[in-house]
Amino acid sequence: MSLKGETKVVVIGAGPAGMTASIYLAQAEIDHLVVEARAPGGAILRAAEVINYPGLGKRRGYEIALEIHKHMKELGNDVLSGEVVSVDRTEKGFIVDIKGRGTVETEFVIVATGAKSKTTGVLNEMRYFGKGVSYCAVCDGYLFKGKVMTVLGQDEEAFDSVKYLSSLASRLNWLVFEVTDEVKKTVNSLKERGFDVGVMKIDKVEDFKGEGKLEKLLVNVDGEVKEIMTDACFVNIGKVAATEFLNFDVHKDAAGFLIVDEDRETSVDGLYAAGDCVKKSVYQVATAVGDGAVAAVNVARRLV
Ligand SMILES: Cc1cc2nc3c(=O)[nH]c(=O)nc-3n(C[C@H](O)[C@H](O)[C@H](O)COP(=O)(O)OP(=O)(O)OC[C@H]3O[C@@H](n4cnc5c(N)ncnc54)[C@H](O)[C@@H]3O)c2cc1C
Repeated sequence: MSLKGETKVVVIGAGPAGMTASIYLAQAEIDHLVVEARAPGGAILRAAEVINYPGLGKRRGYEIALEIHKHMKELGNDVLSGEVVSVDRTEKGFIVDIKGRGTVETEFVIVATGAKSKTTGVLNEMRYFGKGVSYCAVCDGYLFKGKVMTVLGQDEEAFDSVKYLSSLASRLNWLVFEVTDEVKKTVNSLKERGFDVGVMKIDKVEDFKGEGKLEKLLVNVDGEVKEIMTDACFVNIGKVAATEFLNFDVHKDAAGFLIVDEDRETSVDGLYAAGDCVKKSVYQVATAVGDGAVAAVNVARRLV
């Protein structure tokens, strides 16, 4: 796909929210561009199984992503591959800089960039990224089949990781900061299915260690440092919104999640946001596609 220098709307991110926004913009015959830094589909590509997307029953995450992408393409739009590195305001709207591709001027922007995994902040974590440290069990779990694996944290994705890895790991450790009822329930239901998960409450991770690849974690438990031997560590300790490229003041929370009104417009005129990058209470495909639709329809109303 080639890049035009201007368009009416730039949608940043081709996850469920961005692709849905494109479907609605296409229906309203509005010239727009969807930019995606990775493969179209977004976070749901990483879900082994989705059972709660209405109308589709039990599906693999990538199947849902493919269906939405196919629908978008049928309406005549595809995704421009590229990472948006900055958005600045202009007199007429915005200028969007796409790494290595150039800039696009636009009247409206819909930010649909989702959220990224938080890191522990321990220096060595990144040293072992791709050598045992991962943020995606579904993407990388198979690489460690038959080995000792560890899930760190208890955000929403951690529960999915534990369920997914329990059948692949020779031993699965789950390091949590609090042994909640939900943690107990998950472990018990896995035990009933014959999978043993060793839960350990920790206060923090002190270090990641190994010769060339991850071999062990050092964790602090009640002031005492303990070693956890492991071949892989899946870090699931929460998310930060991928909104750092907005070069102007806009209302967001401390983790970068954008604050929007009922039309999904941010505090900046013409800047809309949809999906997991928005501050809200439920982060799911169903709510992301809803946000994408609402943002696109409201942008369309201002353009026609
Ligand atoms: C393991 C896992 C299991 C899940 N299970 C379920 C489930 O069972 N049911 C359910 O409903 N939901 C589930 N979810 C949540 C669901 O995937 C998300 O709520 C949904 O994908 C959010 O859609 P989105 O479009 O807002 O963001 P995302 O899907 O995160 O898409 C954002 C896109 O923006 C792109 N992007 C980011 N920054 C830039 C940039 N600067 N330039 C260009 N592109 C950029 C990203 O590459 C990404 O493709 C799961 C998520 C995970 C990770």
